[in-house]
Formats: sequence, structure tokens, C-alpha cells
Amino acid sequence: MITMAQNDVLMLFDIDGTLVQGAKSHYQAYIEGVKKFYGLEDYVNSVNAAGKSDKLILQEILTLGGLTTDEIQKDFQNCLDFMTDYYLKNVQYEDIHVFDGTIELLNELKRNDALLGLVTGNLEPIAYAKLARAGLDSYFSFGGFGSDNADRSLMVKKALSIAKNQLGFSGDKIFVVGDTPRDVEAAQAYNLKTIAVATGMYSVKELRDCGADYVVENFKNRDKIMKILYK
Ligand SMILES: [Mg+2]
Repeated sequence: MITMAQNDVLMLFDIDGTLVQGAKSHYQAYIEGVKKFYGLEDYVNSVNAAGKSDKLILQEILTLGGLTTDEIQKDFQNCLDFMTDYYLKNVQYEDIHVFDGTIELLNELKRNDALLGLVTGNLEPIAYAKLARAGLDSYFSFGGFGSDNADRSLMVKKALSIAKNQLGFSGDKIFVVGDTPRDVEAAQAYNLKTIAVATGMYSVKELRDCGADYVVENFKNRDKIMKILYK
């Protein structure tokens, strides 16, 4: 028997600044990786990582460190692999904070049969390890990740493609949820609705100004979000 998904709402969530905050080992993985493979002791702090993929962040750190494209490419994948290993080894010590209201919101979305996916710049193994540490991994089974693409809009494309082609999602209520103008911009490339949440480094005003369809301060006001989805 073929069972098709009955979901009429698809939500694609960012992770850092949206569902959780505080992933020190992820930051430390950059420090250790660029030191080991490129001999750079600095620059990790100088890149604004908000809304960017791990690949793009690494690229920016190395460019800032004065390396040429060839020099960057040489150990790029090795460095990403090392960072993943580093994170997986250290995630057990991570103190990850799940934003207030997040679990209640995810539970209510599940009760309503919403299909939940991810669009995150995290490398895929890091994303799932981080969510598992935070107790949120059971809510998500697919997505677009920083390991798929450096470009965030292509991560959105990947998540959409899995939802439609593999999971049978055929609804038209699709929302991308994130905490930065980059999340919004990536979703707009596919004409998707955006819900921006001001729990990251951007304010409600900044998120409104970047053209998000809906802006919420946090996930504590669950009714407001459910009204957006099911009005
Ligand atoms: Mg984010």
C-alpha cells in the first residue's frame, strides 16, 4: 500500500539562533580546524557567521587570513571533515539552550501533522548531533544542510525537493523559519513565505526591514504562530 503524506503545512527551520543557541564546540571546531590545516591562529572571531553555511564561513575565515583560492581548496574538505569529527567528539559537553516555547511549538505542529524539515548552514552530521544534544532530533528527519551547498537558497531547494519528491508533500503552505535576513532572502528565491524570529542577533525591526512576511519576537506566543500557519 502506498501511503501519501497528508500534511498541508511544511515548515523548514533554521537551527542556530532559531531553535537553539550556544554551540561552543562548533565555534571551537573552526579554531582547531583552521589551526591544524592552515596554520591560522585567528580570524574565526572576525567573521559574522549569522545565516551563513559552514562552508561559506570557513571560506571567509581563510580569505581573511590571506590565503589564496588554491591554498584554501587544498585542505578544504579535510578541514570540514576534521571539524565534524571534532564536534561529534565534543558535543556531549555542549551546553545548548533551547529557546523558550520551542518544544511546545514543535509538539503542536506535530499534533497538526505539519511536515517539519531543516534548512541550516550546519554540516549535516553537526546539525543532527546538535539537535540530539538539545533533545530536538526526533522532530526532524530531512533538510538542506551546509554540507549540501555553501549557498543557502540551494539548501532551501534541496529541502523542498525532498519534501515534494520523496515525502509526497503537495500542499502550498510552506514556511521558512529563521533568525537572519539571509534565511529570508534564501526563501524568497523560491517565493516561499518566511517567519523570522528575533531570538538571534537581529531585532524585530531589522527582520521586518529585510522583508520577512511575519516576524515574531520568540516562539512563546504559540497561538500567533499557529494563526499564521492555519488561518
Ligand atoms: Mg540562524
